[in-house]
Amino acid sequence: MSHFSRRDGQLYIDNVALASLAAEHGTPAYVYSKTAISEQFLAYQNAMGEQNHLICYAVKANCSLAILNLLAKLGAGFDIVSGGELERVLAAGGQAQKIVFSGVGKSHEEITLALQTGIHCFNIESLAELERIQQIAQSLDIIAPISIRVNPDVDAGTHPYISTGLKENKFGIDIDSVLAVYQHASSLSHVMIKGVDCHIGSQLTEVAPFIDAMDRVLLLIDRLAEAGISIEHLDLGGGLGVRYQDEQPPAIGDYIRAIRQGLGTRDLCLILEPGRSIVANAGVLLSKVEYLKAAGDKRFAIVDAAMNDMLRPALYQAWLDIETVSDNTQASTDVYDIVGPVCETGDFLGKQRSLAIDEGDLLCIHSAGAYGMAMSSNYNSRPRAVEIMVDNNVAHVIRARETKADLMRGESLLPDPR
Ligand SMILES: *Cc1c(COP(=O)(O)O)cnc(C)c1O
Repeated sequence: MSHFSRRDGQLYIDNVALASLAAEHGTPAYVYSKTAISEQFLAYQNAMGEQNHLICYAVKANCSLAILNLLAKLGAGFDIVSGGELERVLAAGGQAQKIVFSGVGKSHEEITLALQTGIHCFNIESLAELERIQQIAQSLDIIAPISIRVNPDVDAGTHPYISTGLKENKFGIDIDSVLAVYQHASSLSHVMIKGVDCHIGSQLTEVAPFIDAMDRVLLLIDRLAEAGISIEHLDLGGGLGVRYQDEQPPAIGDYIRAIRQGLGTRDLCLILEPGRSIVANAGVLLSKVEYLKAAGDKRFAIVDAAMNDMLRPALYQAWLDIETVSDNTQASTDVYDIVGPVCETGDFLGKQRSLAIDEGDLLCIHSAGAYGMAMSSNYNSRPRAVEIMVDNNVAHVIRARETKADLMRGESLLPDPR
């Protein structure tokens, strides 16, 4: 269900007018619908039916505490990729036993913290990491629950930067050589094999690559069983795509149904790690038009949000829908490139968009809930935006806009020369 509507020329998120939020909290501002996030998570949960499962929200998509807390209350587990994300999940009330820890570069400190916290599972990405986890677990005398991330060598048919399931990238262990790694793991004193894990990419708009990957992983699970290694869970990662423009990704329910069908009657706990599909379309970025400018044949709308607030267009040439927050019946419609104030030619939010706007008008940049705030930075010494969560007709600030003091925190000058 869409959580955005236009009433009397005003764009609403649920029952709050976006213009009123901009007036009260300024721009740029991220705004999320609590109901939209909940609905997406529950779509996963409900489609699981009788299937033993754990939905581990991928924290990296949007790590704001209020969002983690909302999902924790709905029963979510969490997929983390750093010690910082572990701290966030715990601060937000997430349960340690529902955390899986992914990522190719887990440090000694991060592994120690995760072991002491008692997480559900480490998703191991290399033989060297397995050895390190065994060594740290032994020194702490804690048994480390592990799964190995296999690289099933399927083409996810997505942007090369967000495809991770092909042989020639840095993630996981090649599925053809992983049996020996499992055999080695089973011989280690402080490691307990729990599962098999894969994550083939992001923004996938077809079910087929997921099923391909699952079929290969199930064959591996059979070979492991023959070798006397039993597996409790299958973690298929995240990656389900969303509609940004005209993509037609499968509905969450259809995606889960296809996976459950592929699993058949196997007695495996199914873990998924969705990020984007839970938060992307639950959030928008509000921005104000600072200037309109013509250069040759081109027209630019220079807005107060930039690539430091929303990096995806600059990084992935991502397309995001942009519309006016309030109808402007005075302005003529023109075609604009929507650009930010950052000193980079790549600093754009959208190109060639037809809009009827004047200086001072507000724009709504859609599908900004995932990999928006989470990828934001202070480039050009720009404070990071305020974040607001709307609960039907009430708005809550869930992260204050950064201040000048925040921008310079921890910095100091060199001492005067003697
Ligand atoms: C990024 C990532 C996810 C989440 O991917 P989405 O496309 O946002 O669903 C899940 N698991 C791992 C290991 C990841 O790196």
